[in-house]
This record gives sequence, structure tokens and C-alpha cells, in this order.
Amino acid sequence: MSAQARGIVLVISGPSGVGKSTLLRRLLERDAGLAFSVSHTTRRPRAGERDGLEYHFVDAKEFRCLIDEDAFLEWAEYQGSYYGTSRDAVSGPTSRGIDLILEVEVQGAQQLRERLPEAFTIFVLPPSSLDDLERRLRGRDSDSESAIQQRLEAARSEILEADAYQFAVINDDVERAVGVLETIVSACRASTRRILPVWRAQSGRD
Ligand code: 5GP
Repeated sequence: MSAQARGIVLVISGPSGVGKSTLLRRLLERDAGLAFSVSHTTRRPRAGERDGLEYHFVDAKEFRCLIDEDAFLEWAEYQGSYYGTSRDAVSGPTSRGIDLILEVEVQGAQQLRERLPEAFTIFVLPPSSLDDLERRLRGRDSDSESAIQQRLEAARSEILEADAYQFAVINDDVERAVGVLETIVSACRASTRRILPVWRAQSGRD
């Protein structure tokens, strides 16, 4: 009987507007063994976002109930809204051998480093300056001027946290960056922490 590996967890962070969602969408299209962990948030849906796909959109009362029930593996307040990864979102897929990507901001990633030390962490950086990021945030046309300024300020402090991550990907070109992400995912799948438990189970060496 062949033992099934538990799915790996990849945690990806990067400043708002750096293009994480586009990179992840492309990566998920190309890799059928990867799934996106759908977070809960109290932020209002942007145009085109659907409940249950990009996020589970809930109100603050419901989010607080979930905190009280200890339903979250991690959660954080970011730009006036709550964001959190439920325990179920992670345990279900990984126990079925599905590799999971969690897109979280830096406070959430810090909590995951403590609570899920086997997770792999990746930080996405903008090409060079924050000008590019500002252009993307403005191009998105969904946030007010004060929200854009807040997000740029958050980006500056978030980039200072990049040292705490295992991998970094510069999003200078989407195709190239997705290729780098694919390489990282392959390397994580070949890690001892994933391979050895399966190999030991198969060869009766547990
Ligand atoms: P946005 O509002 O642009 O979708 O996301 C804002 C920030 O929240 C992004 O940095 C995103 O990665 C982060 N985020 C999304 N889901 C979660 C989550 O479940 N937990 C945490 N801590 N951050 C999240």
C-alpha cells in the first residue's frame, strides 16, 4: 500500500498591489496539485470578487465569533479590516494530500511561522521602487486616495519584514516570476519534511 504525503503549505506575502493575486492565479492554473486557501475577511468585496472564491466575506460580528471559537489558525487586522485563515481551510485539503497556498499579510505569516513551522514562506517584491506599486494601486481604481496612501505606507513597513521569509520573488515580469514560483513549489515538494515520512511509511521504517 502506498502512503500518501500530507499536502505542503506555502505562505505567500508581499505588499498590497505587488501583483500577488495575478501570480497566484497563473500558478494555480498551471499546477493542478495546488489549491488556494480561501480566507475570511470583513473587507467589502471588490468588483468581480465572489463570496467563497476569493474570500469568505463576513461581518465583524461573525469574525469575532470565529475568533472566540478558536476557528482561526491565524488572523490579523489590516487596513481597518479583519483577515483570517480558518483551521478547516488548511487541515481539510492538506490531510487529503493537496498542497495549499495561503496568501497572508506579514502579521499572519509571523503567526503561521510559530503555529505551522513546517510551512514554507515566500515574499513577493516589487521590481525596484514603490512607484510601480503606487501605479498598480491607482490602476486598480477601487480604493480611495487615503486608502492608497495607507496601503503604500503599509507596503514600506511590510517590505522590511521580507528577511523573515525563506524565498523571495521579484515581480518584474509575470511569466518569469510565475516560473520562479513553480521552481520554488517543486523544491518544497522535494523537501525531506515531505518525502521522508512517506518513504519511511512505504519501507516500514517508521
Ligand atoms: P486585500 O484586501 O488586498 O485582498 O488583502 C489585503 C492584505 O490581506 C493582503 O496583504 C493579503 O495578503 C492579506 N490577507 C488575505 N487573506 C489573509 C488572511 O487570511 N490572513 C492574513 N493575516 N492576511 C490575509
